[in-house]
Amino acid sequence: MTSWDYDLVVLGAGSGGIRAARLAAQAGQRVAVVEEQRVGGTCVLRGCVPKKLLVMGAHYAEDLEDMRGYGWDVDGARFDWGRLIAAKNAELQRLESLYNRILNDNNVTLLPGRGRLADPHTVETGARTVTAERILIATGGRPVMPPVPGIEHAITSNEALDLMHLPRRAAIVGGGYIAVEFAGLFNALGVQVTEILRGDTVLRGFDTDVRASLAEEMTRKGIDLRCESVVRSIAKTETGFSLLLGDDETVETDIVLYATGRRPNTDGLGLEEAGVKLDANGAVVVDPFSATSVPSIFAVGDVTDRMNLTPVALAEARALIDTLYRGRPTAMTYDNIATAVFSMPPVATVGLTEVEARDRFGAVHVYMSRFRPMRHTLSGREERTMMKMLVDPVTDRVLGIHMMGADAPEIIQGFAVALTCGATKAQVDATLGIHPTAAEELVTMRDRRPDPTPEAED
Ligand code: NDP
Repeated sequence: MTSWDYDLVVLGAGSGGIRAARLAAQAGQRVAVVEEQRVGGTCVLRGCVPKKLLVMGAHYAEDLEDMRGYGWDVDGARFDWGRLIAAKNAELQRLESLYNRILNDNNVTLLPGRGRLADPHTVETGARTVTAERILIATGGRPVMPPVPGIEHAITSNEALDLMHLPRRAAIVGGGYIAVEFAGLFNALGVQVTEILRGDTVLRGFDTDVRASLAEEMTRKGIDLRCESVVRSIAKTETGFSLLLGDDETVETDIVLYATGRRPNTDGLGLEEAGVKLDANGAVVVDPFSATSVPSIFAVGDVTDRMNLTPVALAEARALIDTLYRGRPTAMTYDNIATAVFSMPPVATVGLTEVEARDRFGAVHVYMSRFRPMRHTLSGREERTMMKMLVDPVTDRVLGIHMMGADAPEIIQGFAVALTCGATKAQVDATLGIHPTAAEELVTMRDRRPDPTPEAED
């Protein structure tokens, strides 16, 4: 019998890697994690967590404006970006220590350095070479930028989370999660934001009404949305940067932030040499059990480019450990996974979009509500909340719920449970609301939106 140094070696100490390492160790395996940077990964160090802290910080700017309508005088309030960044960094430090403790308390060995596969059972970390019965690739992804002339002047979300100074003007390229989140938070903090996106509006892939509602609110807040627009070049100027757009317009800015997607971290890991199949985008190809084309090698999280969300990576890690070490083969399913965009206002969604529902079910009943939330009756803010529910007319099952507006992520999380349980519209209708809340709208939607006419669908 071969004796391996470890039962499992994990490449990457992000959400998926740490979860898998801890659970494997708790299942009695000897585990090591290889990480070249700090422990925590994208979500904790360069993504969800720091981003949300900055968004929360930015919300106070709107709160201060809204307070006047409630009788408060808030003159003289000042904002210090440096203090927010320092506080955010202290919190990340705390989380990193927590993750280190989790590894330590579970007897998981941390091997610092960049890991590289020498063969299907051997990992080189620079300082050491270790062997393992199984190897898990959980190296995540990184931002990518297109090869535009002058792209070296642009930054990604990694740098945007650590800017030393808040810029006066920001140009943001892209229309996805990251672009709209940064556009919202910078705008709220007083930055003059221009968002340049090649699509017809923000958030491709989301429900059409969510996309339109968010674009409307972003514009109302003063974000200059340049849709169907591309950047031809970026030039340094005396005061900042100048972007030349496809229509020959120029945008003058202090920072250029590219949020044009992410790419799996598979370069230089020795994966292909070891026989691991990658797709055209460089993602590790896996089966529903997270197994790669090499029997001893597995992969979870963003490096597999399935659904790039932290809770999905965590669930994939758990399913894998159940399969490998707990005698419970578990395939991941990706239905009814709720997701949120922490734009201002935020978006949250679970289930199918209207287009997906019509593709799959043909006829679909649509319930929609747009209203001014109670909070803004006194604040005076012109901001609308939008809610939409899609129902299968044959089974009465709720197929999808979409919301844009304050607290959308908190509200939709609960409804995700209902959809997971297969809730019908009748059951939603039988649920009494909590009054007065925005969420109660979702249980009092009685009037169907008329179906679009065939011409309108074109
Ligand atoms: P997305 O894939 O969401 O969006 C990329 C955007 O960049 C799209 O608008 C895309 O346009 C545009 N784009 C791509 N290539 C080019 C190009 N060459 N020129 C101009 N525009 C381009 O990527 P993000 O970087 O925003 O986020 C990456 C992933 O991270 C997300 O998919 C998500 O899974 C995860 N994430 C999740 C968050 C959350 O849960 N709240 C927050 C942030 C990120 P088009 O639509 O036309 O392709």
